[in-house]
Amino acid sequence: MFLEPHFKGQRSGWIEVICGSMFSGKTEELIRRLKRAKIANQKVEIFKPKVDTRFDERKVVSHDKNSILAMPISHSKKLLDITEGIGVVGIDEAQFFDSDLPEVCQAMALRGKRVIVAGLDMDFRGQPFGPMPDLLAVAEYITKVHAICQHCGNLATHSYRLAADGNTVLLGEKDSYEARCRTCYHMGNILNLRVRESESLRK
Ligand code: ZN
Repeated sequence: MFLEPHFKGQRSGWIEVICGSMFSGKTEELIRRLKRAKIANQKVEIFKPKVDTRFDERKVVSHDKNSILAMPISHSKKLLDITEGIGVVGIDEAQFFDSDLPEVCQAMALRGKRVIVAGLDMDFRGQPFGPMPDLLAVAEYITKVHAICQHCGNLATHSYRLAADGNTVLLGEKDSYEARCRTCYHMGNILNLRVRESESLRK
């Protein structure tokens, strides 16, 4: 389990990234860290991209209903103006932010803030998602959380999409995605490909 670092002398800022597939508990881990910072009397705020509108506009809502108020932001650069005086900056659904987010997080860390970023590391195609790979490269601390594969019970790293829609920004819920291990994820993609091939042959 991640424990907050201790400092000798001058305290500086840093970046933590919590990543993983859908249903891996990223938001729960973000909330856990922010609640601990709150108990330590630090000023805490959470932000999320404006595109993520499922459930409630103002809340970071995780699947277990453990929620904290969050502010929707249209562009990551706005964070530089509105985080004055905030010691711990939480960012949820970071994969949907623009490509300036890694630079913005580094600027906030240089200003002495603890920046905790949670997001999907891969999209449903198994590709690195939005600004996440760059964030992983510049972070001091990385935690990859795992879901459980809904097919075989092994650790899951991939988000398998059940819906046949070409849009990556399809906001995930239980009926459109499954957490899968690498093998079950690829087996599903091969099966889907075969179904599509046989459908196109019938046309
Ligand atoms: Zn599996």
